[in-house]
Amino acid sequence: TSFREMGFSAKALNDNIRRCKYMNPTPIQKYAIPVAMAGRDLMACAQTGSGKTAAFCFPIINGIMVDKQRNKKVWGNSGGSGTAFPKALILAPTRELTCQIHDEAKKFSYQTGVKVVVVYGGAPISQQLRNLEKGVDILVATPGRLVDIIERGKVSLRHIKYLTLDEADRMLDMGFEHQVRKIVQQMEMPAPGARQTMLFSATFPAKIQKLASDFLFNYIILSA
Ligand code: AMP
Repeated sequence: TSFREMGFSAKALNDNIRRCKYMNPTPIQKYAIPVAMAGRDLMACAQTGSGKTAAFCFPIINGIMVDKQRNKKVWGNSGGSGTAFPKALILAPTRELTCQIHDEAKKFSYQTGVKVVVVYGGAPISQQLRNLEKGVDILVATPGRLVDIIERGKVSLRHIKYLTLDEADRMLDMGFEHQVRKIVQQMEMPAPGARQTMLFSATFPAKIQKLASDFLFNYIILSA
């Protein structure tokens, strides 16, 4: 399979993939993208350097663009209230990782109209809040900073349709389980399974399996 055969309907996304000059999908892309494009939840084993960022970003960007074209009101930004309503949330354990994901996601969403914003701890919150106010479709966040911003009323997760937990084992190792659970509780969906959740982890201890069974619906397990 090539990226061309993966069924991305959004032309601008296909243009960006071409610009990246990726010759062939990596194993995780080859297996995860068709599952994600079919709308299924997944739990995948993936290390840094495996190409996992593109594996979750391409289907999310395509999905948001398709939804925008259909003008599905339920997912639209409310606007004007000072609260941001992202459609996708990517949670990752560290500032470094969120910034890497943000850089890649911005490259993949160039000229798609899909807006990507990153928030992380250990840096002033004011610029991050200003970025959110300008509009956000995909929010990349570390758990602690996101909880802070939710509590300030600056972001609502009520419209989240796509949730990705990246390096989930590291998030738990770093003590973020409470925050991660609190964050997922904020998402309200019209029906079970209406949210699409992807969990990526290098290891699968019992705690990760429990997280998956709590957050994922009828999911597919991939270990490349
Ligand atoms: P990641 O595992 O997502 O951190 O990606 C590792 C690196 O591989 C990044 O620099 C990507 O831009 C690059 N990459 C992702 N997918 C591909 C691909 N299909 N072909 C070549 N390079 C890729």
